[in-house]
Amino acid sequence: MRKPLLLFRIIFTAIFVLIAQAQPQSPMSRAESTSPLRNDAAGAASAKEPAFDGTTWWNYVKILAADNMEGRETGSPGLRKAQEYVVEQLKRAGLEPVGSRSYYQMVRFESRQIVEKESSLALMHNGQVEPLTLGDDAIFSTRVDLAPAVNAPLVFAGYGLTVPELGHNDLEGLDLRDKVAVIFPGAPSEIPGALASHYQSAGERWKALQKAGAVGVITILNPAAMDIPWSRISANRAHPSMALKGAEFDETAGEELAVTFNPEKAQKLFEGSGHSLQELIDLVKDRKPLPHFPLIPTIRARASVNKKTVESANLVAELPGSDPKLKNEYVVLSAHLDHLGVGEPINGDRIYNGAMDNASGSAVLLDLIASLRKSPGKLKRSLLFVFVTGEEKGLLGSRYFTTHPTVKPGSMIANINIDMFLPIVPLKVLTVYGLAESDLGDWARDAAQSLGVQVQADPEPQRNAFIRSDQYNFIRHGVPALAMGVGFEKGSAEQEIFKNWRTQRYHAPSDDLDQPVNTAAAGKYEEIIHRLMVRAADGPARPQWKTNSFFRRYAPMASGLY
Ligand SMILES: [Zn+2]
Repeated sequence: MRKPLLLFRIIFTAIFVLIAQAQPQSPMSRAESTSPLRNDAAGAASAKEPAFDGTTWWNYVKILAADNMEGRETGSPGLRKAQEYVVEQLKRAGLEPVGSRSYYQMVRFESRQIVEKESSLALMHNGQVEPLTLGDDAIFSTRVDLAPAVNAPLVFAGYGLTVPELGHNDLEGLDLRDKVAVIFPGAPSEIPGALASHYQSAGERWKALQKAGAVGVITILNPAAMDIPWSRISANRAHPSMALKGAEFDETAGEELAVTFNPEKAQKLFEGSGHSLQELIDLVKDRKPLPHFPLIPTIRARASVNKKTVESANLVAELPGSDPKLKNEYVVLSAHLDHLGVGEPINGDRIYNGAMDNASGSAVLLDLIASLRKSPGKLKRSLLFVFVTGEEKGLLGSRYFTTHPTVKPGSMIANINIDMFLPIVPLKVLTVYGLAESDLGDWARDAAQSLGVQVQADPEPQRNAFIRSDQYNFIRHGVPALAMGVGFEKGSAEQEIFKNWRTQRYHAPSDDLDQPVNTAAAGKYEEIIHRLMVRAADGPARPQWKTNSFFRRYAPMASGLY
């Protein structure tokens, strides 16, 4: 396998066609058989291969992101309606149900909603009260199980990051016992992206802070890396958040206070400390190391939270493989079907349709499923299609599924996750999250390059995209995984388009069907996903973590002896 791959990368594509044809048993020959060059060369033989042009994809998006799906909030009638539609498609394609109830895997959540009129935040200066305005200065995060009352000193802990592998510890020498840590999200640039992302996950970060004695966290948003302007974050602060039911899932036990601070109002935290907010924001913007120091005011928090139990479901369907042995291995394609539901109106629109986030990814799965129905190939391994719930609530559906899989534990050998891949510009560059971590990265590169698309690692590691979607839960269970999105070159006009999209449409009602979409880019993206999927399902070897990948440690057989 290696040699043709290398040749393919280096030598002109046409030469590869000759090599591939000379080795018909090579798994690449099937994977590549839909390339335009191959179509010309192979003619009718490839006519029954699926061709994606984005048209059928967009038809699915139109259904899933329509107003009558009401934004597909976890546990809502709108999401159930979208799920019913998906189940219909799974049945039509003849996929086997592998949920706990038919295609459904039920998941239970605790929904939490802050009751602001019974809650308050204040800074205390030597007994003097400086009330904070909820929504304007700061907001509570109900992702954690807030304590009703917290009175605690504050310590500025920089990025609040502990990376044992690199001997990096922002908490070293800091007295955090019974105190609240004030931090910026992010990491200094010398910490590699994947590692920085991992240790910034809520669970890992809290593990280190709790060990140091902290009782809570105040996060000041980094103005240079805010996807959503503060006004929009604040507008939806009363929207319920959710947590998985069950102590096994509580990664932030003991976190009594979680507050997100408006960077424009955060100077008041630093009065008298000898440091200014601006000085720190300048460092954070350039991803430079941050100082650590105690703060003068203490925090007084009173939190009242409405809690209730919510049920929702993941959908799980299987296309069995053809090889008597390899069919026991699953290549998992996942996408979250849930979104934010109905929220605060923006320009008179209350429905957060989530067309890109993530009707677009669910539609790729449906389109792949339909193409498999039309031209059922004989893939050796089985395919598992998982439409997860609760992604927007903190990757909860995928967390539940990977913790309690409905297929044999250890049988999932790869995960390709599709979330908000943003076909809003032509697909010339593909961003691959997890590019350097496993063989899947190499295979994604091959698939993309076979269509003339270049690949790049995450150009904005400070956004933590690698841990911000469902692939992360597969990674944590040892499954090599990746996610991909339409990318841009730094400094290009496209970069501006993406930036504007994030500011205006990301998690806003205008991520709807009335936005410019590049269906050709979506079709090409689907084609790459299809080739990667075929390669993973049909190749002789399952993908492996790279020997130097940090995430290899989660693999049950990290020795490589399968
Ligand atoms: Zn989202």
